[in-house]
Amino acid sequence: MNCINFVVPMNPCACGYFPDRERCCCTEQEVSHYLGRISRPLLDRIDICTEVTGISYEELTEKQENETSAQIRKRVEYAHRMQQERYEGLPLHFNAYLNGNQTELYCPLGEKEQKLLKNAFGKLNLSARAYYKIIKTARTIADLEQEERILEQHLLEAIRYRLPGGAYWGRGV
Ligand SMILES: [Zn+2]
Repeated sequence: MNCINFVVPMNPCACGYFPDRERCCCTEQEVSHYLGRISRPLLDRIDICTEVTGISYEELTEKQENETSAQIRKRVEYAHRMQQERYEGLPLHFNAYLNGNQTELYCPLGEKEQKLLKNAFGKLNLSARAYYKIIKTARTIADLEQEERILEQHLLEAIRYRLPGGAYWGRGV
């Protein structure tokens, strides 16, 4: 089991404002150099990669009905329980700790879902490591939704977490 839990936050450039070109004063080359400090192979070893954009004053102060921390906590606790029951008797408690064979055994995919993942694997040139990480992350997303089966929507969300593309690494860096 070589799974370590940690969060790695990173700015998109030295000044922190890229891709907001009104505020970012870095050159394209400086941005590329900055992002290049984290290599693709290293990114590949991180379970979930996501880009977070800045928030405006209006968005921050807008009143909307969001899920409360207490509600989120309840969902997370339920997902933990689902995983503990699923792996009862095994020396692991969470989806993230499954090896390849265990992933196949405990996270089976339906026909549609297999097809979706096969397409993504080819199109996105995914590694074997990324392939299993997607399934395990999709299993966790399904657990958070209290869903017994891994569905296409769970896989699609998990695939998005494997693509630190968009505004930053997706620029061909
Ligand atoms: Zn910058």
